[in-house]
Amino acid sequence: MKKLSLHWKILIGMALGVLFGFIMSNVNGGGVFISDWIKPFGTIFINSLKLIAIPLILASLIKGVSDLKDISKLSSMGGITITTYLMTTVIAVSVGLLLVNIIKPGESISEKTRSELIQAYDSDAEKKRSAAAENKNSGPLQPLVDLVPSNFVAAASDNKNMLQVIFFSILFGISMILIPPNKAKPIKDFFDSFNEVVLKIIDLIMMFAPYGVFGLLAALIVEAPNADLLKSLLMYSLTLLLGLALMVIIYLLIVKLLTGRNPISFLKAILPAQLVAFSTSSSAATLPVTMDRVQNHLNVEKEVSSFVLPIGATINMDGTAVYQAVAAVFIAQTFGLDLSFTAQLGIISTATLASIGAAAVPSAGIIVLVIVLAQAGIPEAGLALIFAVDRPLDMCRTVVNITGDATVSTIVSKFQKTQS
Ligand code: ASP
Repeated sequence: MKKLSLHWKILIGMALGVLFGFIMSNVNGGGVFISDWIKPFGTIFINSLKLIAIPLILASLIKGVSDLKDISKLSSMGGITITTYLMTTVIAVSVGLLLVNIIKPGESISEKTRSELIQAYDSDAEKKRSAAAENKNSGPLQPLVDLVPSNFVAAASDNKNMLQVIFFSILFGISMILIPPNKAKPIKDFFDSFNEVVLKIIDLIMMFAPYGVFGLLAALIVEAPNADLLKSLLMYSLTLLLGLALMVIIYLLIVKLLTGRNPISFLKAILPAQLVAFSTSSSAATLPVTMDRVQNHLNVEKEVSSFVLPIGATINMDGTAVYQAVAAVFIAQTFGLDLSFTAQLGIISTATLASIGAAAVPSAGIIVLVIVLAQAGIPEAGLALIFAVDRPLDMCRTVVNITGDATVSTIVSKFQKTQS
């Protein structure tokens, strides 16, 4: 018999978790049973995701940046590629922020559920709240100052400082490009294989995911039996899906306006890649198909696509960027935290960086979400809230991630033609 693929196992884990949660909430002592014997598996799962976050950022960014050595050779193509990637990502975060502030999915829960939630995650939420209050009182350049760690080991010892680890990794990667290649080779080989190992660890953690989501969902159901929270999770998912759909429309407009291509034939050409992205939840796994569709069906020159797409798969994740914004603000709303305008502006930069730092593999987005949450002073415990529905949303954001890469490759191709 063909082995069931992971996303099906996770979906089954989710469904069984909900079912089990409902059954246990009607059984005497069911709630205690779940919190003693089932929920810990969910907690272990979330902890292991958090555990791998710093090594993942280190490995994937140092490898990603140091792979960019061709930028000096192909500087014009490199420049336009990176600029367009950055621009689409900032648009994506802004779309997410706009929608989540208009729809306010996290505010749909009742005061009662909110105070129960806050109580459940009390110590964490309280800490974050006072940190957020402190943040509000600091000077305008404080975020910039916070970006540069005074001690690397200290920075890497706390998930809260992940932005500092990103800063160090980029600096490290750039310096690797600047030294002679023969000197850089050993460390490059080291980080290439370090990256492989980290990706394998994520693979292993994800094998545990079906059991993790089972525990998380069962606990969610018995702890929030009023269905209030489920409703707000649904609203959150719809907000995110709306944001992702908007991004696709924006891409089609860009394709039409900047390259003069027909948006429908563009979509038709990349549909197979989108389906693979949907079923694998990984831009990296989809890369060969994206390459094929972009080269052979969108007729983008090989020279352009083989440069733009691999970089895009690692650093351009617009679906993930929309998600970071929506998820972070949703969690803040659920916990009743009022994010200031400056805090939301901060989310634009952290979410952009986090989406760049996310690896092109399943669930990378929720791992780097820790950075955005920590930086904005939002309780990390909120991860447990949204994890329940993360997998299907991951499938959808990956579709947007690769659609963004394909869009940018048509723009770069057009730009290269006008240059020559
Ligand atoms: N799964 C996504 C990708 O590979 C990343 C994410 O988790 O958002 O593109």
